[in-house]
Amino acid sequence: MMNYTIKDLRQKLDQKHLTVKEVLDEYFKTIKEKNKELNALITVTEKEAYEQAVQAQKMIDEGKAGALTGIPLAIKDNISTKGILTSCASKMLYNYYPEFEATVIQKLKAAGAIIIGKANMDEFAMGNTNETSYYGAVKNPLNTNYVSGGSSGGSAACVAAHMACAALGTDTGGSIRQPAAFCGVTGLKPTYGRVSRYGVVAFASSLDQVGPIAKTAEDCALILNTIAGRDNNDMTSSEKPVVDFTADIGKSLEGKVIGVPMEFFEMGISPKVKEAVLNAIEEYKKMGCVIKEVSFKSLKYAVSAYYLISSAEASSNLAKFDGIQYGYRSEKGDTYHDNVKHTRAEGFGTEVKRRILFGIYGLTSGNYDAYYKKAILVRAMIKNEYNAIFKECDFIISPTTLTGAFRLGDNINDPVRLYMSDICTVTANIAGLPAITTPCGKNENGMPVAFQITANEFEERQLVAACAAFEKIYRSIRQ
Ligand code: GLN
Repeated sequence: MMNYTIKDLRQKLDQKHLTVKEVLDEYFKTIKEKNKELNALITVTEKEAYEQAVQAQKMIDEGKAGALTGIPLAIKDNISTKGILTSCASKMLYNYYPEFEATVIQKLKAAGAIIIGKANMDEFAMGNTNETSYYGAVKNPLNTNYVSGGSSGGSAACVAAHMACAALGTDTGGSIRQPAAFCGVTGLKPTYGRVSRYGVVAFASSLDQVGPIAKTAEDCALILNTIAGRDNNDMTSSEKPVVDFTADIGKSLEGKVIGVPMEFFEMGISPKVKEAVLNAIEEYKKMGCVIKEVSFKSLKYAVSAYYLISSAEASSNLAKFDGIQYGYRSEKGDTYHDNVKHTRAEGFGTEVKRRILFGIYGLTSGNYDAYYKKAILVRAMIKNEYNAIFKECDFIISPTTLTGAFRLGDNINDPVRLYMSDICTVTANIAGLPAITTPCGKNENGMPVAFQITANEFEERQLVAACAAFEKIYRSIRQ
């Protein structure tokens, strides 16, 4: 088992203490030992990985290695990989082998990174326990009675279980940060538009972002350095220049103003999480940060607005899955419409159907003003509140989740309860802001708890540095 960060592995590879092949041998050994139980990878790409290793080793030997050359990564299964199953953990795409590579995959491969497999997830990224996957739930590597979180649960579990050095996830309402928090690793949702989504299967296009899950904030930044930037294949990707996101790590945080919206601590947070997050805030005070209580009054509307907007967009994005050109097709139905009806009835799981129906309901002419339009107004309120806070503050600290990981099966029949548990993460997506999560303690069950830092748009460099400053202290306490 290799418990290395990207940075550690880089050194070992560059100094020839390890070859890329030796690194892969070790990771695939761990995958073989653990994947059966954890169910974190849907597809293991061993053959392709060893092929990529030859090129990566050559880059290293020729002194052309970049930060990710030879580093084994897991990729969430809603990110298109040419010729490799990209199922979105849905029966609907059980046989979808894309003919093209997502931009983020092209970039990772060009950098010499190695893809070890495709990570399990909630079906079409809808969920926060990984139990909606057609391939079954992912178990939490720290205690297999608990869920990994979701929807990027396989990605987070791979990192926590050392089945991959780091991973890519996607985050529409918390799907990078929540599983990272539940599995005790670090996850970064970049600013909306920072990373190309070309080749990423869309869930809610005004919210979706791709981002890293890794062992440290610095590792997240190294991945972001590679995947960020404008892409002409994605009109929503930003023209903002890509800076070195690791550049501020180690700089003093003295005088930085941290906003703490107390509303996040009043919405059913468990006492242990509250205590751990408040302790983390204390650490920032010791580093010379100024802590400022701020208000976030629209928080109570955030979950409703998020589920209305994301489901409305999902109902449109998922309309294309009709079984005609690719994916699952039912045997039943004599007419086109009948066949599509059966295909969608058989191909989608319960949660996906619920979202599609809910989304369409909120958009119909009789309901539009009462629901969708109101959600859009709440979105504007949330953005305004963030703008006001960032006039006075550099960062916001809040919990990532209200509790530690749920027990497997505990919430499976209570969707509203699960939706409500997304309260801490959805606002960053609604406003398009970058946010990072890192562990800051354990709860009464011994499961990790985490806090989240949010920054203003395109401030990932500062965000990573602020997170890394805490990780340095927290890890030294734990050792
Ligand atoms: N849990 C949220 C949902 O189910 C977020 C999912 C995500 O970020 N992809 O919609």
